[in-house]
Amino acid sequence: MTVFDPKEKYKHLTKLGNIVLQCISCGDCREQTDYTADPPKWGVCVAKENTSGFEPFFGRGKMQIIRSVLQGKLELSKDMAEVIYQCPTCNACAEACAYDMDNAALYEALRAELVDAGCGLEAHVPMNRAMVELLNPYQRDNKEKSDWLEKLDFKIKDANSEQADVLYFVGCTAALTPDIQPVAVNTAKVLKKLGVDFSVFGEREVCCGSVAMRTGDRKAFDSVAMKNVELFKKAGVKTIITSCAGCYRTLKTDYSEYLDELGIEILHTVDFVRNIINEKNIQLKNLEINATYHDPCHTGRNSGLKEGVNPLYEEPREILRKMANLIEMKTIKESAKCCGAGGGVKKGFPELALEISKARIQEAEETGAEYLVSICPFCYRNLDDAIKASNSEIKMIDLMELLEQALN
Ligand code: SF4
Ligand code: SF4
Repeated sequence: MTVFDPKEKYKHLTKLGNIVLQCISCGDCREQTDYTADPPKWGVCVAKENTSGFEPFFGRGKMQIIRSVLQGKLELSKDMAEVIYQCPTCNACAEACAYDMDNAALYEALRAELVDAGCGLEAHVPMNRAMVELLNPYQRDNKEKSDWLEKLDFKIKDANSEQADVLYFVGCTAALTPDIQPVAVNTAKVLKKLGVDFSVFGEREVCCGSVAMRTGDRKAFDSVAMKNVELFKKAGVKTIITSCAGCYRTLKTDYSEYLDELGIEILHTVDFVRNIINEKNIQLKNLEINATYHDPCHTGRNSGLKEGVNPLYEEPREILRKMANLIEMKTIKESAKCCGAGGGVKKGFPELALEISKARIQEAEETGAEYLVSICPFCYRNLDDAIKASNSEIKMIDLMELLEQALN
């Protein structure tokens, strides 16, 4: 008789140990509220709110599924994938949970099992294949990654052949999406104004692999991660900065085993420029605008759960307050509502991604602010889609664009 050994069959899930057993099925991850916190914390599972809301759409049901898979009571299937992937892995459930669990890490491990078993989501296959073959998930010629550089009236060092103190890792969304290229253009302008010696890889920049990691394609992730590590080594990079929350979280946490030993430091641009502004006591112009701020899950909850990594909640707000009147939304920081794009939802379930972001736009509109500010091109893209779909008048803007205007 063959003995069922979960360690043999489910290597991604069992690598995380027994943490799933901590779940006591209390259901706090469905709708937890901490009235005593200041401001109150509103537990928000955006998947539960924008689907049928049945058990597997929020944390408790997913934990039950994982437990049953590990007990050999439930087989992986395409039907399971259809539900498991309707979640942007925002990790609001981990914040709501009284136990010390990184819930989204378990969901990602389950996705990795689904992909290995041939049960991953079809919509993600061409995206992850393009990442490996073309070096970006948008199925575009990677040469286009240098197009945004033509929008500058100065030259940036080429990391492939020139040494610089800092590497600016642009990320595929800002480099390849015309509407979002201002994120890259303004980041470069800010760095120049602050006198930073920096370089970019341009058309040789390789996707960080975030979407492959989130959607469970570990082979695609490993492929691009290895290419990036080689590039960083060859270029002698010591500090990498990025204006993308997804790239930041991926490089900071998922690459840590490679980059730590190379002594490479990873910073979000917001953190990097804030340090310079404070050290040099640079005064920012007050732009006389009302703005509200959207916390990306990758710079917030999904970074804050990793040992030694601080979530970036105060850093962007500190800069924003110097340039604008910041009006906060109802859900912020640890309990901020997700934009809905992450975890492969934008690709796999675009309508769900749009519904989730419409709810975030509604929160932003309730503040009465004219600008919705973020520090992630991917959040930017989904929130901007929702602004258009809801005929909202609020303007989406990246923090770097405001900073470029506020720096004399
Ligand atoms: S994951 Fe945490 S909050 Fe959710 S049901 Fe389990 S123990 Fe409760
Ligand atoms: S990661 Fe976010 S959307 Fe997914 S189950 Fe948890 S709270 Fe809900």
